[in-house]
Amino acid sequence: MILMKSDFTYDLLIIGGGISACVFASKYLKNNVTKKVALVEIGRGLGGRSSTRISKRFKGWKLNHGAPNFNIINIKNNLLLKSYIDELLENKFIKIDDSEIVFLNDDSNLENIKTSEFSCGVNYRCLESMSQFSQKIIEFNNLKGKIDFYFDTLIADFIFNDKEWVLTSINGDQFKSKYLICSTNLLLHKRSMKILNINQIPLRKAIPIYKDKKIDLLLNFLDKQSFIPRLTFLIYTNENYSYKDFYSNKQRCFYLKNNLENKYKFERIIFQLQDNNKLGIVVHSKNIELINSYINSKDEEVFKQKIITNFNQLFEENALVNKLTFDVKISIMKWRASQPSGLAVPLSLQLSRKYRIGFCGDWFEGEGFGRIEGSILSALILEKKFNDLIK
Ligand SMILES: Cc1cc2nc3c(=O)[nH]c(=O)nc-3n(C[C@H](O)[C@H](O)[C@H](O)COP(=O)(O)OP(=O)(O)OC[C@H]3O[C@@H](n4cnc5c(N)ncnc54)[C@H](O)[C@@H]3O)c2cc1C
Repeated sequence: MILMKSDFTYDLLIIGGGISACVFASKYLKNNVTKKVALVEIGRGLGGRSSTRISKRFKGWKLNHGAPNFNIINIKNNLLLKSYIDELLENKFIKIDDSEIVFLNDDSNLENIKTSEFSCGVNYRCLESMSQFSQKIIEFNNLKGKIDFYFDTLIADFIFNDKEWVLTSINGDQFKSKYLICSTNLLLHKRSMKILNINQIPLRKAIPIYKDKKIDLLLNFLDKQSFIPRLTFLIYTNENYSYKDFYSNKQRCFYLKNNLENKYKFERIIFQLQDNNKLGIVVHSKNIELINSYINSKDEEVFKQKIITNFNQLFEENALVNKLTFDVKISIMKWRASQPSGLAVPLSLQLSRKYRIGFCGDWFEGEGFGRIEGSILSALILEKKFNDLIK
């Protein structure tokens, strides 16, 4: 059905389709089945920074190119989070991660001390791909049909006109709603000015200074938040590539200790067994030198050969991993903002009653800051506050 512009009016609009948006939408809809809700996302599907690359060029490959799994650190003291994780486990959307985690020390030998921010606490893996995880969350309780999705749609501006929020996409489409949820902070942060080629942060423009103390504070906190860029290399190995041993679980992850990370410029390497038994490899890097060298590289093929050389040197003496041949195919994903860093935003600033706008995502305070744990928890907390608002 082709929707006319006048059809784009909702009770609630959600900007973004990552995990936090999906958790919020599924909880909200469960309690408000009659409300008209839409989700607007610039990507082709759900998942955001926790999604899966299904290559058109390399048929049959599905590689989790953002977060490959997730860890929960603070469950004991948090009943809200605990009961949600239990729900996900009961519904078989996730399971305790059985992947082997290997820490490589300076000699490329193995070590078993778990030190990474992404592996401490309890690790969970999705039964299907990471994109499927967000999909499953939305489909929870048969709610999928209750929400309109607008993909490939970038919201570039919004205004609040007392009666409603009016959102404008980069293509000029307008969406209206009584309530608004931002699961991304793009439209709230100074980076939006460069990305959207505008001269004022959209939220500041929509709500001028001194109109709402909470919004002023939120924008002040965000002004001190920055973002970690990352590169991920998706390696499509050849038919006969395998481990040196007989490991057969779905994923296996190698973390590099600091000195080794400086030397090889890789942060972690995740092997992902495919349905067709091929072995995909996703290499993450947050090394600025490597990122700059990629940005400035004149010949991407030469850059890729360097990545293979680094990989082979790293695993030269390793008992588990075979070297790569130089004809493997690699695609590169550049994350301008893979994770927030610096100042986290207090959860007390999540909701403005006056302006009927709420915020969630991994950019809020708590142990889950910068991780999926924070995205899920902030969405659960926001949904509770939001239900009080609309009562
Ligand atoms: C390479 C990488 C590795 C990671 N590894 C881990 C890990 O091991 N464990 C872990 O816990 N976390 C990890 N993370 C972090 C984790 O992915 C995030 O914490 C989590 O996915 C954030 O979810 P979210 O819903 O808060 O935000 P997002 O996933 O960023 O969702 C926001 C969505 O909003 C959309 N959007 C933004 N602006 C607009 C707009 N104006 N209009 C329309 N749509 C818009 C975006 O496209 C995005 O889909 C990793 C991240 C990256 C990039």
